[in-house]
Amino acid sequence: MAPQKLIILGGGFGGLDVARAIGRSAAARSGWDTRLIDKENFFQFNPLLPAVAVGAVETRHIVYPLRTMAAHRHIRFLKNKAMGIDLDRRLVTLHNGLVESYDTLVVAVGSVTNYYGVPGAAEHTLPFKTIVDAMRLRARVVELFEMAEQAETEAQRRRLLSFAIVGGGVTGVEVAAELMEMASETLLPRYPGIGRSDLTVTLIESGSRLVAAARPAHSDYVRRHLGRRGVRVRIDSAVTRVEPRRVFVGDEPVEAFTIVWTAGVYPPQLVRDLPLRHVPDGRVIVDECLRAVDPEGRALEGVYVIGDCAGARRPDGRLQPQLSQTAIAMGQYVGNRLVRRARGLDTGPFKFHDAGYIISLGKHSSVLELFGVPLSGRLAWLAWAGAYLVKMVGFRKQLEVGLDHITHLVFEHDTAQILARRNVLTDDELDLTLAGPAGSEGAAPAADAARAAAPGAPGGGAQTSCLHFAAEAVRVAGNSRASAAAELRPTGGAGEGRGTP
Ligand SMILES: Cc1cc2nc3c(=O)[nH]c(=O)nc-3n(C[C@H](O)[C@H](O)[C@H](O)COP(=O)(O)OP(=O)(O)OC[C@H]3O[C@@H](n4cnc5c(N)ncnc54)[C@H](O)[C@@H]3O)c2cc1C
Repeated sequence: MAPQKLIILGGGFGGLDVARAIGRSAAARSGWDTRLIDKENFFQFNPLLPAVAVGAVETRHIVYPLRTMAAHRHIRFLKNKAMGIDLDRRLVTLHNGLVESYDTLVVAVGSVTNYYGVPGAAEHTLPFKTIVDAMRLRARVVELFEMAEQAETEAQRRRLLSFAIVGGGVTGVEVAAELMEMASETLLPRYPGIGRSDLTVTLIESGSRLVAAARPAHSDYVRRHLGRRGVRVRIDSAVTRVEPRRVFVGDEPVEAFTIVWTAGVYPPQLVRDLPLRHVPDGRVIVDECLRAVDPEGRALEGVYVIGDCAGARRPDGRLQPQLSQTAIAMGQYVGNRLVRRARGLDTGPFKFHDAGYIISLGKHSSVLELFGVPLSGRLAWLAWAGAYLVKMVGFRKQLEVGLDHITHLVFEHDTAQILARRNVLTDDELDLTLAGPAGSEGAAPAADAARAAAPGAPGGGAQTSCLHFAAEAVRVAGNSRASAAAELRPTGGAGEGRGTP
């Protein structure tokens, strides 16, 4: 019998495991003509992105070439972006006009950043979702330290070194912890012109505790840990709007030269647009075998949705959390199901109980709960490092990341900034003049200055009003990252999701 055509959309945690299962089985390899399609040609190990953002783990060590995997598994890989799925005609349209037909489709395209419709969030914050986001953040932090070192006034230094992270889920907490550690342990000692008081890192969470999916004692532990390291933690603080270099909590402005958005995820437009049943954030409702459910409530034979874009119910009625372990379990289940189908066998329903959570708080400290056992401190950090090492794809990556951990135990973060400044600073930031006029604290861009001068205006605090920038900064150019924010997304929170705005 001619092989059936299988398309796996997305080579992340979920899609990769489907492809590996097919590749491992001779019966499946001859029963399925498999194509793995991903817009990138690499798999990215997200849990280590915060470590990459501070240089504790090398960028290339957390990515794995999908083409290499495909070659090992004897399946075909296409680097291309799916633009549309025609469920009736069983076609996937790719971005260059190519059209791929399928008999069975696995949708595993993950999620995108969710700004929850907060005005200005997409335009004026940095996302933290991809390896490029992590590289940019690291480069920007170092670049801002370089600029602050040359600033002539304390107000300028403080302004440049003010960071806000929106979303106190796992990602936000990890980014805040790593950023503070790199800044205080490695950068501050290298920049004699900058003092500890020049740096502020604020973590803003709308809920009543950090990492809501963790046990309350761990949320408290994380909060105390961050507080001890100097992170300003604000809970019960919903972000209502964002302006350039300013986040509003209710009506109160929080000044931050760099604002990172880690508040949540939701499925890409491609998935949200599918004529299927969705949960409110756009995830596709799936049945107990992870098949997509159509608007009439029927499961579609041959269309599976897995990972972050699947709305799968647990026995208690809650949605499965958007975590790598969920995506892996779903990928293994669908992969196994397709292998068994190639052998003419049936498969029971998907069953999954998450093993717990691990939150890294920088070098030597983590909190975790694995199979109901809580742990915190150094031992938890070792467990964190070990667990993610085991999960890395391929021996080479395990070796590289393992050596990174050992190196980082002995040596400090690498502070070399190798990206072009234009890639990490906006036009008006590049044009900043750091010289403050004699007898003054520096000059703000015109818009900021005018706002600061207005009586009772938000942001009219002493720190903002006395900043000075160059005359050419008057144009206050629009944020050049606007395009990066074109694709927005929502999440379900940290167990469900990873934080809220
Ligand atoms: C910064 C960060 C830290 C995280 N930390 C943790 C953690 O510590 N623990 C944990 O369990 N989880 C963590 N997660 C969540 C975890 O990464 C996700 O739950 C998991 O990646 C979901 O797997 P997936 O297969 O659904 O999607 P992904 O792994 O995101 O894979 C989706 C793939 O689809 C591809 N794709 C997207 N759109 C298209 C398209 N249109 N056409 C073709 N290809 C496309 C993408 O390039 C990607 O390769 C973290 C996530 C982030 C962003």
